[in-house]
Amino acid sequence: MPELIITAPNGVVWKRLPGGTTSGTDFLAALEMLVSLSDVSRQWNWWQEGRERRERERLHRILEQWDHAAPPPGGYLSKEELDAEFAAKRAQREEERQRRAASYDEERAMIRLSLLRAEATAGFMCNALAIPGSRAWQPKAEELRRASEREAAALKEKLGDPNAVVDQAGDLPQTRRERHLYEHMAFFRHPLLQEWSSSQRKRFHKLLAMPPPRPSDMCAECQAPADWHTYGFSLSLWQGKPASGSTAEVLGRLMPGWWERCLACTPYQLHHQWGHNALPDFGYEQWHAMLPPLLRAIFAPGTPAPRKPVDPRAALEKRLRATEAKAEQLRRQLAEIELADRGDQADP
Ligand SMILES: [Zn+2]
Repeated sequence: MPELIITAPNGVVWKRLPGGTTSGTDFLAALEMLVSLSDVSRQWNWWQEGRERRERERLHRILEQWDHAAPPPGGYLSKEELDAEFAAKRAQREEERQRRAASYDEERAMIRLSLLRAEATAGFMCNALAIPGSRAWQPKAEELRRASEREAAALKEKLGDPNAVVDQAGDLPQTRRERHLYEHMAFFRHPLLQEWSSSQRKRFHKLLAMPPPRPSDMCAECQAPADWHTYGFSLSLWQGKPASGSTAEVLGRLMPGWWERCLACTPYQLHHQWGHNALPDFGYEQWHAMLPPLLRAIFAPGTPAPRKPVDPRAALEKRLRATEAKAEQLRRQLAEIELADRGDQADP
C-alpha cells in the first residue's frame, strides 16, 4: 500500500501506517464516530447483545492503522501530565458538586416536586380531554386541569427556576436527566428489545421506532421521558421494594402503584382508585384510548374487549344455520345407508 497522508477537519495531519488498508474517508468517519460514541442517540438502536463492544472493536481496527504525521504544536503531553490534567478536572467538578450539595434546600426540593406533579396532572387532563367521542368526564377534567395549572403557576412563582434546584448530592436536574437517558437506553430499551425481538415482533417494532429523546425531554427523578408522567407512567428502575415492616410497605399494599410511582408523576390514578376527585365514567378503556401508540405497545398492548350488544336475531340465525347444516349431514348419511342397502339387495 502506498503512503497516505490526510488532514482532519481540525487541521491535524494523519498518516497511514505501513500495512494499513483503510481509506482516509473510512478513517475520518471512524474518528468522528469514536468521538461521538458517548452520545446516546448513536447507540440508541444498538440493542443486540454485545453490539456496542463490536462497534468499538471495529473502530479500533481502523484507528490503529493510523498515526499523527507530525507531533502537534508544543509536542505531546506525557502520561503523567495527561493523568494530572484529568485528575485536576475531576477534582474541580467534585468541588463544585459539593458546594452545590451544601446549598441543598429540602423545602425547595419538595416545592419543585409538587410543581412537576401539578404539571403532570394538568397534562393528564389535557390528554383525557383529547379523547374523541362521548365525554361524561369533560367538565370534571376541565376543572382539574384549571386547578392544576393554577397550582403549578403559584408554585413556580414561589420557587423560581425549577432547573436550578439541586438534589442532596449536589446534582442539578439536567445532570440527572442526562444520566437517566443513558439508563433508559441501557437498562430498559435494550433489554426489552432483546426480549421482544424473538417473542413479540409487533411490540418490538413499535419500541424500535421510538426516536431517542433529548436529554432535556427526560424526567430528572426517574428513567422515563417526562411526558410519560402525563399518562400516569413512571420508570423508577432502581426503586427496589419498600423495607419490610415500614410504613411505606403498608401504604404500598393499600395503594397499588404508589411505591413504584415517580414523585414527578401525576397522582391522578391513585386519586381515582380512592374515588378522590375522580373523573366520572372514566375507566381502563378511556385511559387506554388516550395513550399514544408507543405507550400502548409498551405498557398496555391488550385491547380492552369491546362491549358489543348481543343481537338476538343474529344469534337465532346462527343457531338455525348450524341446525340446517346438521340436518343436511344426517340426510347425506341416510342416503348413503340406503344406497348401500340397495347394493346389498342387488348382489346375488
Ligand atoms: Zn419521573
